[in-house]
Amino acid sequence: MKEQVKGIESYVPEEPLTQVKKRLGLKKLVRLSANENPFGTSNEVKNALLNWNFSEGNRYPDGNATQLRQAIATKLDVQPENLVFGVGLDEIIMLLSHIFLEKGDEVLLTKPTFSEYALHAEIEGCKVVEVPCNTETGGHSFAGMLAKITAKTKIIWLCNPNNPTGVYEKPAAIADFVAQVPAYVLVVIDEAYIHYVTDTKAPSFLPFLDKYPNAVLMRTFSKAYGLANYRVGYAVMAAKLAAYMQAVRLPYNLNALSQTAALAALNDQKFVADSVQKTERERKAWEKFLTAANIKHFHSQANFIFFKYPDAPGLADMLLKNGYQLRRGLAKDWLRLTIGTAADGEKIRELIKTQKRS
Ligand SMILES: *Cc1c(COP(=O)(O)O)cnc(C)c1O
Repeated sequence: MKEQVKGIESYVPEEPLTQVKKRLGLKKLVRLSANENPFGTSNEVKNALLNWNFSEGNRYPDGNATQLRQAIATKLDVQPENLVFGVGLDEIIMLLSHIFLEKGDEVLLTKPTFSEYALHAEIEGCKVVEVPCNTETGGHSFAGMLAKITAKTKIIWLCNPNNPTGVYEKPAAIADFVAQVPAYVLVVIDEAYIHYVTDTKAPSFLPFLDKYPNAVLMRTFSKAYGLANYRVGYAVMAAKLAAYMQAVRLPYNLNALSQTAALAALNDQKFVADSVQKTERERKAWEKFLTAANIKHFHSQANFIFFKYPDAPGLADMLLKNGYQLRRGLAKDWLRLTIGTAADGEKIRELIKTQKRS
């Protein structure tokens, strides 16, 4: 077996909600630790699934996700050949690492960022080179990354907005960066949270993709579309790169129910717009609160907010006892809170005020 695999700690997935509730003896538990959509899923998804032809259960699904592929290609104004689908972005991250990394290569990423990038680099026997984010703004350090590129660098992971900081970078700034990256390095721009960006009208890197054949864009249905359970993510890239991915991926990775759910969700943009609008309103309330309470945080353009608290584990424990689960362990003294409903937000802010007073 691969020697490096022996040293890897397995990812600890979110404990099922019912299990946490039972373990802690809680009546109510709101999970604000996984950046799921607190407003649920579009009703159109339910309708589409109820209309699914159950007599097709014995048939393999459409391995090309033809309808979904065409719908997304049309929406993004790209060719169907530019798209690669995965069982969530998790699978796309694994595939990109599996295909483009060789033992001894290096990947470059921001610290902190989404943990899956480093995990798959380690599985492939690669060195993970971390570049700390700007401590003031939480933004990526583009100059810092450029300085760390070597002949061995093969992938640069750029999460935008970044998880867990929530910080967003404009596509022109990213394009400026990509233009300085050698062509042998793949720059993967993870837009898992791009729908939540409201500071600017055209937030995506997509219009720049044509110009940079070594750039890859990733999107998921798990966040703003509220489909985390269905596991649908995709990448947009040059047809030549996509063909390598298609050759290596499992032929039937997306089952029919996932394809059906994603297509229905895609066709209900009102649900997405509503979710984004409610999130934006609540995100503003959080930023106002944190600023007034003198709690250090980064300006978020995602559906979560990252803040620094003197006794972060203590605060997380207190909130959990009150039925609110936050994400800890991403950076010392910092917590990540998924922006939830306005009612829950108000309650949590009251709880924090009480904790601060005592
Ligand atoms: C949630 C998340 C993903 C993974 O999404 P799935 O499509 O559910 O696998 C990818 N990237 C980032 C930054 C995320 O936060």
